[in-house]
Amino acid sequence: MEQIRGLGVSRGMVHGKIIFVRPGKEEGTSIKRAVDPDAEAERFRNSCRILQEELENLYTKTKETLGEKEADIFTIHQMMLADEGFTEIVEACIAAGKSAEQAVTEAGNTLAESFAVMDNAYMQAREADIRSLSERLTEILQGKQMVQIQLTEPCILAIHDLSPAQTMELDLKMVLGFITEQGSVNSHTAILARTLGIPAIAAAGNLPEHIHGKDAVLDGKNGILYVSPDAEILKSHAQNRAEEEINRDKWENVRGQRCKRQDGTPIRICANAGSMDDISVSLENDAEGIGLFRSEFLFMQYDRCPTEEEQYSVYRQILEKMDGKEAVIRTLDAGADKKIPWLPIAHGETNPALGFRAIRICLRYPELLITQLRALYRASALGKISAMIPMISLPSELDTVLQIAGEVRCSLREEGVLFDENMPVGIMIETPSAALQAGLLAEKAAFFSIGTNDLTQYTMAADRENSAVAYLTETVSDSVKKLIHMTAEAASKAKIPVSICGELAGDETMIPFFLQEGITKLSVSPNHILRVRSAVQNSLQENRV
Ligand code: PEP
Ligand code: MG
Repeated sequence: MEQIRGLGVSRGMVHGKIIFVRPGKEEGTSIKRAVDPDAEAERFRNSCRILQEELENLYTKTKETLGEKEADIFTIHQMMLADEGFTEIVEACIAAGKSAEQAVTEAGNTLAESFAVMDNAYMQAREADIRSLSERLTEILQGKQMVQIQLTEPCILAIHDLSPAQTMELDLKMVLGFITEQGSVNSHTAILARTLGIPAIAAAGNLPEHIHGKDAVLDGKNGILYVSPDAEILKSHAQNRAEEEINRDKWENVRGQRCKRQDGTPIRICANAGSMDDISVSLENDAEGIGLFRSEFLFMQYDRCPTEEEQYSVYRQILEKMDGKEAVIRTLDAGADKKIPWLPIAHGETNPALGFRAIRICLRYPELLITQLRALYRASALGKISAMIPMISLPSELDTVLQIAGEVRCSLREEGVLFDENMPVGIMIETPSAALQAGLLAEKAAFFSIGTNDLTQYTMAADRENSAVAYLTETVSDSVKKLIHMTAEAASKAKIPVSICGELAGDETMIPFFLQEGITKLSVSPNHILRVRSAVQNSLQENRV
């Protein structure tokens, strides 16, 4: 038995035959010939028009077969193709005497490299998108059809890389799972695989051609492809399938149900979201609310600060979708791994996670907070919305935020704008300092939500992006538990709600502890809502809480 390892990007185990596809690279991408710049520029514009049309067709096809959310990938590709940054590099290369093919390849490489070195994992994954776009443009310039992968039987597809366009052109009924040499957890193809529920492995490195036609088990959770699996692996695959079916039924059973403690206190299972699509998926999965909306992803879509009107329109749409359910909007949490180029943050901070981020930026540039709070207060007239402040370390920071919120209310009142005077303004507890001063903070904040991702990073002094120190955060330390306990105790004394919105909220082994601490809301990834609700129900029954 041979094992090939990569990154598990979409959970699930499948058993089938490997079809290894290596699309042959044809000659011609580096044509060197004397060129007429005007003619080349015209060829480039034409190829862009053709590609825009192809993308439009893929959008329509995907929207019809899978839905709008999945189809959005192609809108993003259209935007990338129309981006001035890309066009300008191509035009400059053509003006310097290069052919349209060379110019497109060069612009593709330059932009792909600039994405690859970004700090944010999501932005890094855009490298693959830009490469697939420039490759397709080059093919169009050379008059080639898109490389289509024909599968005639259900199989495990092994391939160098899959662009979202190729994935959509595949007969998905024939794809049991796939393994790619390239890609990452955040590549759009990986996101598609998760949405479609196709087990997948990415970044497996050079795949040997001899695996073609062999029997295999693909484990998308652990990122392992077992080629010619032995009896033990086949048995574990069969067990895994049986367990998954039982679990899926169990989780479906709690759809529509609500968890309550014996004294009647509800335990709500809400969702973490960063986009409108996440909100749709959350509602499809029966979320009782949005416990954390990461508003920085909204800010990342602009090349300047979104105006009050633009922000208000997004918050209004969120509330319309939520249809009476609550939405907790976290104010801008930029900095560290979430870079927003137009923000006045010095690049190259030696220690960005301990640097200028989140509320620290908003207090230095209060206009950012004022605009966001005005938009949130205005939206509060339309539904259940709260503002949540990230990265509070000191009570004085919260004092300043609350003073600004008071001034915002005052000016809205003077302007005769409708809003909810009592819109809750709560805080995230994600620094040890905030947990240690939870008593003081609880006197001022409307609620606490514990961000266990950062709380763990700062408590253990272990960068959450650095796999070399991951051993410090893989299991929950007693130090983190103590800080959660202090936070929950302070919240209970001050009679304010306390929830968990970091990844620990989805960890079933932590649920008895959270229930014991009086946590009344868990906010988790949209696809985990039913699993977590089922686990909470079990824990409430078993521990007679
Ligand atoms: C956290 O730190 O736990 C959290 C939820 O915030 P983020 O992961 O966005 O930093
Ligand atoms: Mg955080």
